[in-house]
Amino acid sequence: MELDDHAEDLASDLGVDKEEVKDDLQNLVEYSVPIDEAKQSLRRKYGDGQSGGGGAPSAKDIAEITPDDGNVTVTGVVLTAGERSIRYQGSDHVIVEGRLADESGVIDYTAWEDFGLSPGDTITAGNAGVREWDGEPELNLGESTSLSFNDDSLEVPYEVGGDSQLADLQTGDRAVTIEVSVLECERKTIDGRDGETDILSGVFGDESGRLPFTNWEPAPAIEEGGTVRIENAYVQEFRGVPEVNVSEFSTVTGLDREIDVGSDTTTMDVADAVGTGGIYDVEVVGNLLAVRDGSGLIQRCPECYRVIQKGQCRTHGDVDGIDDLRVKAILDDGTGTVTAVLDDDLTERVYGGTLEDALEQAREAMDQEVVADTIRERIVGREYRIRGHLSVDEYGANLDAETFEESDDDPAARATALLEEVDA
Ligand SMILES: [Zn+2]
Repeated sequence: MELDDHAEDLASDLGVDKEEVKDDLQNLVEYSVPIDEAKQSLRRKYGDGQSGGGGAPSAKDIAEITPDDGNVTVTGVVLTAGERSIRYQGSDHVIVEGRLADESGVIDYTAWEDFGLSPGDTITAGNAGVREWDGEPELNLGESTSLSFNDDSLEVPYEVGGDSQLADLQTGDRAVTIEVSVLECERKTIDGRDGETDILSGVFGDESGRLPFTNWEPAPAIEEGGTVRIENAYVQEFRGVPEVNVSEFSTVTGLDREIDVGSDTTTMDVADAVGTGGIYDVEVVGNLLAVRDGSGLIQRCPECYRVIQKGQCRTHGDVDGIDDLRVKAILDDGTGTVTAVLDDDLTERVYGGTLEDALEQAREAMDQEVVADTIRERIVGREYRIRGHLSVDEYGANLDAETFEESDDDPAARATALLEEVDA
């Protein structure tokens, strides 16, 4: 190999200017440094932490990359590549995010430059930065990264493309493709970062489950009752649960086929459910330990609809409260606890009466706490199966109940199963 070729190799590996590398290389060689050693020393100088092994292009398997690696050179197949607009240092910037795979594993990447990445491309990224996100390494492809497209495509044991089912989506997922039924959809006007703007928000469903969504630039194909294919969506947490985000970069096309929305909810242990950090649709089974204060007959602020105490709203002061019913109940399944929140309809069912009945009972007793007491007598100490939206924050885990049924499981069988688990 000529010096020029060596310089070219190095420059592309390290993502630096070839002429600069060539000058350095020339100098070292003139001082009788063997070419391999010269290249090694330049790799160190230009910040490639790899040992490089005798001048071969330094590379790292994806599975070997740790958050402690400063910079790496990787060869892999682009599984997904999705554009997204972010506001960075005061201006809008289009970035590309997705997943890169080799034989050993998969890693998330963010490309800050327009490299023209497409799913299926085999690339070598020289001098890619490594950063930590949620304890996992991620690749940053930026201006100091030398990116080349390889003619020989790499075989990887992962599927190219972002086809996903709703149940598998997690906060942080990028460039996902889904085919869904639009179960709920409403148009809202919000105060966005560039003034008032219309968005769509609602709920998607597919065979695997349901998830809420926001469509930042209303797509005509997204309408209640319709079915759509969405490419390049991303998933972000909103109010404690994952939400599908459909952006200006997403492609939305109407579908002719029907989608059967799965009615099977995931049933989980409370500890596992809470451990996910939030799930839109989940079912837990446990014992109802207590009905918390602020349950039964309550009053809400007419302005902000929050629960008020003694006619006082924390934000709006002295207000004429609106009467309402709700239950906040603590459910325990042996692995953990959640606070289940029942709306007015569910509360009427467990109370066994309407809001009018509750007001009547409170008037007669001259104490509105009697309504909560009645509910306590009916449900505390029993076992319930609750399905709803679980959100988790620093104040604890709340399960917004959609259904609330007394468990038909045999308590004796459950006790035996629990004992076996404990013994094991
Ligand atoms: Zn208020």
